Amino acid sequence: MTQGNINVSVENIFPLIKKFLYSDHEIFLRELISNATDATLKLKHLTSIGEIKTDYGTPKIEVAIDKDAKTLTISDQGIGMTGAEVEKYINQIAFSGAEEFLEKYKDTSKDSGIIGHFGLGFYSAFMVAEKVEIVTKSYKDEPAVRWICDGSPVYTLEEADKTKRGTDIILHIAEDSTEFLEESRIRELLLKYNKFMPVPIKFGTKTESLPLPEDAAEDAKAETVEVDNIINNPTPAWTKAPSELTDADYKQFYHELYPMQFEEPLFNIHLNVDYPFNLTGILYFPKLTNGLNIEKDKIQLYQNQVYVTDEVKGIVPDFLMLLRGVIDSPDIPLNVSRSYLQADGAVKKISSYITKKVADKMVSLFNENREDYEKKWNDIKIVIEYGMISEDKFFDKSDKFALYPTTDGKYYLWSELEEKLKPMQTDKDGNLVLLYATNEHDQHSYVQAANDKGYEVLLLDSPIVPHLIQKLETSKEKISFARVDADHLNNLIKKEDSAISKLNEEEKESLKKNIEEAVNDTKFSVQIEDLESTEAPFMITQPEFMRRMKDMQATGGGGMFGMGGFPEMYNLVVNSNSELASEILKNENAEEKNTKIKYALDLAKLSQNLLKGKDLTDFIQRSYQQLSK
Ligand code: ADP
Repeated sequence: MTQGNINVSVENIFPLIKKFLYSDHEIFLRELISNATDATLKLKHLTSIGEIKTDYGTPKIEVAIDKDAKTLTISDQGIGMTGAEVEKYINQIAFSGAEEFLEKYKDTSKDSGIIGHFGLGFYSAFMVAEKVEIVTKSYKDEPAVRWICDGSPVYTLEEADKTKRGTDIILHIAEDSTEFLEESRIRELLLKYNKFMPVPIKFGTKTESLPLPEDAAEDAKAETVEVDNIINNPTPAWTKAPSELTDADYKQFYHELYPMQFEEPLFNIHLNVDYPFNLTGILYFPKLTNGLNIEKDKIQLYQNQVYVTDEVKGIVPDFLMLLRGVIDSPDIPLNVSRSYLQADGAVKKISSYITKKVADKMVSLFNENREDYEKKWNDIKIVIEYGMISEDKFFDKSDKFALYPTTDGKYYLWSELEEKLKPMQTDKDGNLVLLYATNEHDQHSYVQAANDKGYEVLLLDSPIVPHLIQKLETSKEKISFARVDADHLNNLIKKEDSAISKLNEEEKESLKKNIEEAVNDTKFSVQIEDLESTEAPFMITQPEFMRRMKDMQATGGGGMFGMGGFPEMYNLVVNSNSELASEILKNENAEEKNTKIKYALDLAKLSQNLLKGKDLTDFIQRSYQQLSK
């Protein structure tokens, strides 16, 4: 037996590690299982190149709790260590890491991700254990050894009687960490960090029924046996080639990743790049309709199949944060803290790779099956539209996959929109005017009116549409958008032949005056227009510009937060060719005239969803009275 002093400049690493790494102490298990995995994969490599002459077999890692002894043991069947290697790797190398950690810690504030970053690995065991034993037998023909350390700089190293190759790390769990002796807690950690690690991890046993022999009697009972309970899936879908996977495999993996998700994903994007950085993964477009679990089931970041975090801001562009799935990249620093990531050039490259990949996938989904893509559009549009306004590269490609639905259920690509609508909907300056509705129900009468005139109305109903429209108007040439209830619709659009006026100028003037007096509200500016006699007599429109400013303000775009206070402004468009207009003009009874104008105004307000509260109550009462007459 040898005994010696660990070469370290602090008195006792145990309280130190506990104190500084406290916030994240559960990661000790991830670190120890990572070491066990490394030891196993090293064995695999050495057998594959013939340096170790034994068969690799099917080694596994075992995690076991002994409640009586208050120990948690992590055992592997990897390469093991000789006594000299324990002295070299455990006693020295790790301590340089510890020293570095101490050195760095002086200037940094508490940072929960610190362990991974400084590679303390094995020593994280002291966050939860008051004493750690390593019992290890190397693949080399040398005796096994037992190393024991209680976190003080004193360790003991002696020969042990272990005969099988591999390493047992025995943690004597500290009084304040007994949660790690609970099966449920360990299971939770294994499923969080190790669910997809490449070496099978056994945690306890389970019973399984043996298949019945073919000639078994009908009432024969299946026999049960105890089998290893393997907690992980060592070959998750993202580690396989896309050609090996079916649609069903992708879906199955989705549910493996998010066991509480019952909806099927809409489609997936398999990521696979090895230059200039290494990255694999699968992203899923979820159905976003119910808004549930958005917070919980996020994209997970892995590093060589070890779970790191689900805070992927920076790595994944903002507009894709609503997606689900996994990204695995050894090139992302393990200490994933936001400030670090944003400054990192590699991370930026990864983010733009993902953006490009998603755009490419959209193009191919659209081309492969347009009908299916159109069906899914409603569920994916918010992500795509957000991408179009936030990432220029994505916007530039979007002509090939962004759809513009119409209120009557058609879906146009931008080029089709231009081609189809241009002949009908061009204003006097030659601009294509795109009419759109943001709410099919609220704006129904306007949509109807526009359709009656032969115009197509786009249905752009996601909350970020004001920003999308602005982006399109500044990027595309000779187009402008106008909401169906916007003002000057009739001026914007070139009409074949505008309606002939029934009223002369003088009559129009007097009609206008009548209405202005009766309405008596500065919010409404009265406009007499010569429309088809079949069109609504009164119609309220909003100045497009003013409404947009308000919309933008409501969705917080363009630095408009807090500007507030846009005045309410509406146009009251009166159709001079309507019967009602003539009737009002001709009516000699001032009171009747007044009543009619107010009634018509209320109806116009109703179609614009502007009649509310007391005004609505009064209107209904008046209408009933009218009916009873
Ligand atoms: P790192 O894993 O980052 O190298 P650690 O402190 O976790 O740092 O481990 C130090 C070294 O100890 C490892 O590089 C490895 O050589 C050795 N080691 C740790 N655990 C095992 C194990 N279970 N089997 C074999 N060697 C191990």
